[in-house]
Amino acid sequence: MTDWQGLPVTVISTGVVAQSVVPVLAGMGARLTVVDTRDDETRRAAAARLEEIGARVVLGSEELPDGTALVIASPGLPPTSAIYDQARAASVPIWGEVELAWRLRPEGAPPWLVVTGTNGKTTTVQMLGSILEAAGKRTAVVGNVGTPPLEAVLAGDAYDVLAVELSSFQIYWAPSVRPLASACLNIAPDHLDWHGSFERYVADKGRVYNGTEVACVYNVADPATEKMVIDADVQEGCRAIGFTLGAPGPSMVGVVDGLLVDRAFCPDRHRNAQELASVQDVRPSVPHNIANALAAAALARAYGVAPAAVRDGLQAFHPDAHRIAVVAEIDGVTYVDDSKATNPHAAAASLGSYPHVVWIAGGDAKGGDVEGLVRGAAESGRLRGAVLLGRDRGLFAERLARYAPELPVVVLDDASTAVMATAVSVARGMAESGDTVLLAPACASWDIFANYGERGDLFAAAVRAAG
Ligand code: ADP
Repeated sequence: MTDWQGLPVTVISTGVVAQSVVPVLAGMGARLTVVDTRDDETRRAAAARLEEIGARVVLGSEELPDGTALVIASPGLPPTSAIYDQARAASVPIWGEVELAWRLRPEGAPPWLVVTGTNGKTTTVQMLGSILEAAGKRTAVVGNVGTPPLEAVLAGDAYDVLAVELSSFQIYWAPSVRPLASACLNIAPDHLDWHGSFERYVADKGRVYNGTEVACVYNVADPATEKMVIDADVQEGCRAIGFTLGAPGPSMVGVVDGLLVDRAFCPDRHRNAQELASVQDVRPSVPHNIANALAAAALARAYGVAPAAVRDGLQAFHPDAHRIAVVAEIDGVTYVDDSKATNPHAAAASLGSYPHVVWIAGGDAKGGDVEGLVRGAAESGRLRGAVLLGRDRGLFAERLARYAPELPVVVLDDASTAVMATAVSVARGMAESGDTVLLAPACASWDIFANYGERGDLFAAAVRAAG
């Protein structure tokens, strides 16, 4: 599709995708309609901005406008939504914002290094960006975080290479993307309400590897990711590269004697391992984050970055807020904000990082189960106590009563944001010197808080007030 002049394009939802896509397509002469199922103050304000750029906006509708030649999908609506059914029935193509960006890439555009996974995407892609910068490359972190994909691909020759984070929603609607190298960090139940089932979620994520040119990076400890690589339709000569927290086999990166080591991209056949960095260069230096660093290193090495740049890039990296961030130490108790642990897999990784934990958990479990998480936490013997809040607090309470009947548990029924201050004060009362009070909710925040950022900020504010 190259002739955009007068092309009737329908963009689903007035959200961030529309704000990025509409100005670009309007500038190319497309005839744009934006359809949003909702009709409230936020949508009306967004609609006004879009109308200014020349789009027609229809609020409170799930009808595909007649004559639509292309649909730009919204990550917010599941693919089973009626409006997509209408598009499919009329054989109208449906592209996500990432698909559009990929198709609008100019000739000779920079290659993409793509990261997905249930958890660790943002951290890994930012580590990758830092490594690429340390190698002197002009780069941007793009996609689910950072620069919108369209903006990055239309930035002319500003970049040598892009570090791209893709969510499962974005991958679903972007079948044409052909990364130079790609990684799926891990896979565990999440967003099941969107994908319909865990099997479909795995299949949708696995499409990240399709079309990869040089290297598919998988997690040795998570065989489902290796299986995805085996099933993928990659370019000829593309290699499978594993990352592991243990000693790496051939075609892997891993850890030997506290060093990150590369056995996949060795400079010549006389050396079968290459030191990249020390585990202490990874901050915070906890196991799942070292795994993220190894994945970032493998992607950078696939692109040809030198070992020293991996070390320099990791040393220069600063994690984003609300990701296992130490807020304070008060009376020997460390308070850690991992509000971004929005699913059981992430919360399990954080709980496993500390020997004695008072756990603040709960929120919107997104239709998932917390049985495995709670059972694992109970059996690990790491829990000192638990403070539960949010809509699905009962799920946690029930499982804790079954697997850790002796554990002190306090359930908070307050559904206002003030509940976080109470949670911190209760947790403080349970903790002993040497313990960690950990906010790792294993749930989305929307039932009480605006987002995970607000949840983490309120936790940090309550901790500081206590200190
Ligand atoms: P994403 O972008 O995939 O949501 P983030 O890098 O923002 O990932 O990290 C989100 C949360 O996931 C972190 O707060 C941490 O609890 C957890 N996490 C990070 N990396 C991993 C990993 N490799 N395995 C499991 N959990 C992880």
